[in-house]
Amino acid sequence: MAKGTIGVTTENIFPVIKKFLYSDHEIFLRELVSNAVDATQKLKTLSSFGEFKGELGDLDVRVSVDKEKGTLTVSDKGIGMTAEDVEKYITQIAFSGAEEFLAKYKDKANSIIGHFGLGFFSAFMVAKKVEIRTLSYKEGAEAVRWECDGSPEYDMEPCDKSTRGTDVILYIDDDNKEFLEQARIDTLLKKYCRFLPVPVISGKEQEWKDGKYVDTDKDKVVNSLEPLWMKKPADLTDENYLTFYREMFPGQDDPLFWIHLNVDYPFTLTGILYFPKIKSNFEVMKNRIQLYCNQVYVTDSVEGVVPEFLMLLQGVIDSPDIPLNVSRSYLQADTAVKKISSYITKKVASRLEDLFKQDRKEYELKWDDIKIFIEYGMLTDEKFCDAAMKFTLLKDTEGHYYTLDEYKTLVEANQTNKDGQIIYLYANDPVAQYNYIKDATDHGYSVLLMDGQLDNHFIGLLENKLEKVHFARVDADVIDNLIVKEEKKQADLTPLQRNIMTTLFRSQVPHVDKASFLVVFEAMKPTAMPIVITQSEYMRRMKEMAAMQPGMNFYGDLPDSYNLTVNTEQPLVIKLRDEACAALDATVAPIEKDIEAKNAEITTLRGKGKDMTDDDRKQSTVLEAEVNELRQKEEKAVADYAATKPLIKQLIDLALLSNGLLRGQDLSAFIRRSVELL
Ligand code: ADP
Repeated sequence: MAKGTIGVTTENIFPVIKKFLYSDHEIFLRELVSNAVDATQKLKTLSSFGEFKGELGDLDVRVSVDKEKGTLTVSDKGIGMTAEDVEKYITQIAFSGAEEFLAKYKDKANSIIGHFGLGFFSAFMVAKKVEIRTLSYKEGAEAVRWECDGSPEYDMEPCDKSTRGTDVILYIDDDNKEFLEQARIDTLLKKYCRFLPVPVISGKEQEWKDGKYVDTDKDKVVNSLEPLWMKKPADLTDENYLTFYREMFPGQDDPLFWIHLNVDYPFTLTGILYFPKIKSNFEVMKNRIQLYCNQVYVTDSVEGVVPEFLMLLQGVIDSPDIPLNVSRSYLQADTAVKKISSYITKKVASRLEDLFKQDRKEYELKWDDIKIFIEYGMLTDEKFCDAAMKFTLLKDTEGHYYTLDEYKTLVEANQTNKDGQIIYLYANDPVAQYNYIKDATDHGYSVLLMDGQLDNHFIGLLENKLEKVHFARVDADVIDNLIVKEEKKQADLTPLQRNIMTTLFRSQVPHVDKASFLVVFEAMKPTAMPIVITQSEYMRRMKEMAAMQPGMNFYGDLPDSYNLTVNTEQPLVIKLRDEACAALDATVAPIEKDIEAKNAEITTLRGKGKDMTDDDRKQSTVLEAEVNELRQKEEKAVADYAATKPLIKQLIDLALLSNGLLRGQDLSAFIRRSVELL
């Protein structure tokens, strides 16, 4: 028996390595199966060149566990190794890799994340002893057995193995007994080895018999699914892509469409990305892209490699050029990785543009589902945003779709205001905002539907990108104020009338939780509604933004302030005004006169400035109190009158009702009053 010493300086490095790699123990299986597959592929190559003339036979790789012996064995029928090969490749190369690794990471154990490609050496993460039994393909080769228990010493001797290839036998240590469970091995093989190019067999197919699953005689092949991304797109049908998707992501709706990636310069990358149907919460959808390196699964955490907004996609990316042995932060700074990321972005953009150009109808059908990807992309990726301006659609409340250019052309003539701004009207709740939408369309305006999860932000983005375009929600003001065409007619009210009317309406507004109302007057069309309730676009956006950002609660806590806009041209309002003024003139006019006189006195006193005496000050305070009292008296007179006119409450309630603001007791009072009025 030959004895040797492994060229590693540290006395016993394995415990150290075990501790370092603690979270990722399972990758040993990936490494060993990959080696077995490589050895098999090499033999195939040698055979195709005529360098190996023997029978290839069934070239599969087998993974088997023996619970009693406590071993896990990976066997292949590949090229095998001679004693010199083992000496050279295992004890020198494999172990020198480990030495290098130790030297590099000794001081920063904590910064080690992920995947090291430690190769054969990783077997020692789970095994107390590793045995290799191997017979080289070379003519006249002698089988060898190599054994190492994790100390820097190993044994090597001839053995009786008669079949070509290599068995790597791991004597699993006590901490890692889980790797002796077939179910655990099945899961790992499915994860890491599902697409390897040589059949990987582990365990037996099972069948349902006498009330339980039992093994059949049939070997279970782990990698029966073909790695579809390795094929040429031209050779694949839609059905191929869909079948692959259903296998990879079972239990989901079919994807909307997919993109087949295929580059070989300046880096090698293949893959298929699917656009899934997103239901609601898209956060939970992340990490659905699997990263492979030459068909070996590496990770499903692809941050940095795939642009942020495409993390919502599902699929596979395979590239030998992504450096896998480094930490995430390094990955993101890596220029090759950056190039990959921007390539994917470009490719996705051009695929979307093709879809749009080739079949606009089909694209429109998918738009509602893909809109969230595109908006997310435009919001987070400048380059994608520029590209997407060509194939982004806007949808109006009638279900028509327009490109950004088309829409501008559509509304420019009719919806440009007197300051030259083009106003894009939009609704985010077509049922609740029905009246406003109707009012706008009656004016010949178009109303967009912006009800997506990201539309608030998207509107901001478009206002930034599109020159002179401003968005206004249909219920942000009365329509004539949303798109102000010319100096408009002012509400035709004398100061006294305005005074009476303001109090008249204000006194009848019911208390609505978290809402405040300001009574304003507008001369709208006589046929328009008598009262319209609107909410300022600016305040609403502030509140909406506050709701999404912590630390801006100030805006979030403010009550919603609405304008209660009274249409002074509406016949009912005119009638109310005339009746109220006639009835109240005798009471209110003298009070107003009084107030005016007292205010004038106050002004004179204040006008003295520095010369104001203490008496002046006192008198001015007394006058102010009197004015206050008079105001209250006036308000009470008007309110008392208003209370006798159910029509006022009725008009206000109608407006509240059409905004969903009339609830509970007030709503039931409204219904009763309506019956009485009828
Ligand atoms: P890597 O695979 O990255 O080269 P490893 O440590 O996994 O590093 O393996 C070192 C070398 O040992 C391989 O390059 C190969 O020459 C040899 N080797 C490992 N496993 C096998 C095997 N099952 N059959 C034949 N040769 C093998």
